[in-house]
Amino acid sequence: MSCGAAELRITFSPGRVQLVQEEEVVPGGPRVLVTGATGLLGRAVCAEFLSIGWSVIGTGYRRARPRLLRCDLTDEDAVRGLLHEYQPDVIVHCAAERRPDVVERYTEAAVNLNVHATSMLAKEAAVCGALLIYISTDYVFDGRNPPYGEDDSPNPLNVYGRSKLEGERETLRHCPGAVVLRVPVLFGEVESVMESAVTSLWVKVEASESCTLDHCQQRFPTDARDVATVCRKLAERARQHLFFFSWLFAHLSVSQDPSIKGIFHFSGKEQMTKYEMAVAIAQAFNLPSNHLIPLTEQPVAAAPRPVNAQLNCSRLELQNLGVEPRPFTVAITDCLWPFTPDKRWRQTVFH
Ligand code: NAP
Repeated sequence: MSCGAAELRITFSPGRVQLVQEEEVVPGGPRVLVTGATGLLGRAVCAEFLSIGWSVIGTGYRRARPRLLRCDLTDEDAVRGLLHEYQPDVIVHCAAERRPDVVERYTEAAVNLNVHATSMLAKEAAVCGALLIYISTDYVFDGRNPPYGEDDSPNPLNVYGRSKLEGERETLRHCPGAVVLRVPVLFGEVESVMESAVTSLWVKVEASESCTLDHCQQRFPTDARDVATVCRKLAERARQHLFFFSWLFAHLSVSQDPSIKGIFHFSGKEQMTKYEMAVAIAQAFNLPSNHLIPLTEQPVAAAPRPVNAQLNCSRLELQNLGVEPRPFTVAITDCLWPFTPDKRWRQTVFH
């Protein structure tokens, strides 16, 4: 195995960590390790760091494919080997079981990934001195008293929220310089519309029969590409400080920017129920919406969800690390147009 060399090769324990295809890495450049790189957010994070010329090492598991590493993060030896091999400067930890109803049903497997693997990653990040960015969720809050600041007390309503909160605590316990970035429901460039709770509304919008949609729980749909930009800004800010102070005090051991650690919130700004999102999608595509029926009672699900866990994002904004999201209809149109029957739609609308 080699690190920072022209090509990467993993040679230990086949089946646990395995390089699907050798990949060129820019020698000497900053390195980011992205876990969950086959997922919705991880793909956006990889694209964001690649766009600024960083060496990106992305890991997936069941969907690992060429240019990504296959690594079961619940295997401690594999995690240790991964970090020792690549010595990343930054780790963006996106991998998680994030479907609340699945977590409720397969709790042990989910806790292994969301808590124990996170704990292991945090210990190893502290050893190799990497900035760890742990992606968390607004579901750590009960949704009874929004908006929530970074210092407000969490009180998750479901096992998923509890597992992510435990993940946050393990992260900050083992790696005190780490960042916890809480985000709400995400959408983005999906492989299938069912990959995100927001894009999956397309199925209801397109349906010919009437469909009911929740019009009770307030959500703040957030573009995964904006979250990726926030991760990049956090990483860049932390490194700017590192470079400046290592130049100033070349003989001292210098840590990252002390303001880039602890909990941050990032969220889209438009408050919408699922019903309102579906109507907005229908309008954006010039489709009928009169078959969509709003339901105002709390929906019944295996895992209870907060009614409104709005995140106050002022800490990011005060440090000029926020991103101004595009209007929901513009961003969601961009993500859904590949699923429209007529692929020429985009050209006819924008040109
Ligand atoms: P996702 O699309 O479901 O992706 C999950 C990722 O975890 C996949 O890359 C998956 O790899 C990987 N993974 C699963 N089991 C693994 C294992 N044993 N070892 C290694 N990797 C494993 O998730 P996402 O929507 O991008 O979510 C990213 C982060 O944002 C999560 O931390 C989530 O809690 C948080 N978040 C998401 C949302 C949302 O609406 N999506 C909202 C708030 C917070 P394979 O698919 O290759 O197996």
